[in-house]
Amino acid sequence: MDILTPEQRHKNMSAIRSKNTFPEIFLRKQLFALGYRYRINAKNITGHPDLYFRKYNTAIFVHGCFWHRHKNCRYSTSPTTRQDFWNKKFETNKKRDNFVKEELGKQNIKCLIIWECTIKNMKKDPEFKIRILKEIQNFIKNNSVNFMEL
Ligand SMILES: [Zn+2]
Repeated sequence: MDILTPEQRHKNMSAIRSKNTFPEIFLRKQLFALGYRYRINAKNITGHPDLYFRKYNTAIFVHGCFWHRHKNCRYSTSPTTRQDFWNKKFETNKKRDNFVKEELGKQNIKCLIIWECTIKNMKKDPEFKIRILKEIQNFIKNNSVNFMEL
């Protein structure tokens, strides 16, 4: 049973999807420490990427595994109630993600998706963290690939 008013639900949803979540802050700190400078939630870039590196024409999105339906990921659970509601929600998110990816491609802005579970693992495992940070840096500096997910 849905006991929230539409207003309360909206508030809840925006809280869940809010910016400055732990994975975003963690990633920012790591890249800042490596000397990278970026804009946060750049309003004028399609999709408002979490991080935007103008110097490298690169946008980074930190994707929550649940909201963005990370395939084969244990955090991408499927709610068992109100399935129609959730399926519509997930479809909308997927469509938006695809649109953003295509638009950025047309604008020659490289697009890197980093999943929430990757960041959780970076926090737990220092060697994994170093490996992922290297991959991120390679992607940022290399212009031969314009889309990647980590
Ligand atoms: Zn995941």
